[in-house]
Amino acid sequence: MDSRRFLVGLTGGIGSGKSTVADLFAAHGVTIVDTDAIAHALTAPGGAAIPAIREAFGDPVIAEDGALDRAAMRAIVFADPQARHRLEAILHPMIGHCCELMIAEASGPYTMVVVPLLVESGRWRQRIDRLAVVDCPVEAQIARVMQRNRFERSQIEAIIAVQASREARLAAADDVVDNGGDPQALAPQVDALHARYLELAARKAAGPGGAGETGPAAATHRDEEGR
Ligand code: ATP
Repeated sequence: MDSRRFLVGLTGGIGSGKSTVADLFAAHGVTIVDTDAIAHALTAPGGAAIPAIREAFGDPVIAEDGALDRAAMRAIVFADPQARHRLEAILHPMIGHCCELMIAEASGPYTMVVVPLLVESGRWRQRIDRLAVVDCPVEAQIARVMQRNRFERSQIEAIIAVQASREARLAAADDVVDNGGDPQALAPQVDALHARYLELAARKAAGPGGAGETGPAAATHRDEEGR
């Protein structure tokens, strides 16, 4: 693994717009490692996590096609926090392993990992160089997910209640992408952040004493990194 490669973490609450924002970074050629997509692959028919999940929770959580029955699993973990921990104990190490493989294989000056619960995860916070948060009002999250998933409002509120608060995410952020308005407002913000990440990635690649660490800009970099 190239530990000099700059790693940006992208997070945000449910329906905040992480995937929409990640797609804009991908359009700049940034490799996106999406933990949700990895979790889906691990729990698809024939997925690597299916045998362990079946052993832990039994056949009722496995659909006829061999995939995880998400609705059944969601009902169990909402009713029983211990069940959530058991599921996470199966999935998180596998997701982490897949992420590291993808990060190691990534090309380009920096890589972006999309982690819905990044602020809640000590391991990811240690791992990344920079944290970008997609932010929007809670009401917008609810409206978007109601429209996209046809979930009940109460279901979405229950998910939001177990995620970090909007305030906690903003407090942890190095950079904020404001997605409270029109989706067209995203591209200029992403363009500006991409330019900044290219610069920070180049400095990290140059290493201590490298060209990137000298000159007036280095002080800004250290200030920013100290946040
Ligand atoms: P999740 O956490 O559920 O995976 P997400 O944070 O990745 O969601 P997206 O999937 O990007 O969020 O967006 C959620 C939904 O809201 C999508 O249907 C998307 O098209 C829509 N959406 C994203 N941004 C906006 C916006 N600014 N205005 C209106 N709709 C939006």
